[in-house]
Amino acid sequence: MHVLVVEDEVDVAESLIRGLRRHGYDAVGVATGSRALDTYRDADLVLLDLELPDIDGLEVCRTIRAAGDTPIIAFTDHSNESDRVLGLQAGSDDCLNKPYGFRELMARIDAVMRRVRPRHPATDPAIEHGPLRIDAATREVWLDGGLVEVTRKEFDLLYYLASHPGVVISRRQLMAEIWGDPMTHTASPHVSRTIDTHVSTLRGKLGSSNWIRTVRGVGFLFGNG
Ligand code: CA
Repeated sequence: MHVLVVEDEVDVAESLIRGLRRHGYDAVGVATGSRALDTYRDADLVLLDLELPDIDGLEVCRTIRAAGDTPIIAFTDHSNESDRVLGLQAGSDDCLNKPYGFRELMARIDAVMRRVRPRHPATDPAIEHGPLRIDAATREVWLDGGLVEVTRKEFDLLYYLASHPGVVISRRQLMAEIWGDPMTHTASPHVSRTIDTHVSTLRGKLGSSNWIRTVRGVGFLFGNG
């Protein structure tokens, strides 16, 4: 799971990232709100300090929430209830006062991810194409009987494409369906890069470019390995 840590205090950011990596998360840090807004689309979870040097953290939180359902846990420097309420009202899934205990944070991450994970109802059928099995109930991808580790976005992307075999899916459609971004950013090169990065990572994990084919100038097509 890819975690974006938005924190301007270097010491706090470093120890948090170290701790997350020790727990098996793929964590990266940014120190400003503008960098957060540039990079959150790649994240499965955003850990957001609300006191940032450039943009008001609440504004960052609202912007991410307006664009989609990326889970956010926010942190406030003040130990009062009203700051936490503001964080929650701005769209965060949870809000903690600093300093917080690392074990509590881990438990809260688990709780937030449990709530957001079942995006597809458990009754969704598993999709099978030859040696590839994509199970919506367990959110697992299997290839030739082996489990393929994928991030939340990678799963959603593959599941969506595989649900429409033989249909060319446009980048705009992917952005709206997978990133929940209603075409405001579709023209930006960053969006194209985000999709390309996910597609290229998935191809690497699936060991072939043929599962997801590029249709030049249009979008992507689910193939047959
Ligand atoms: Ca701060």
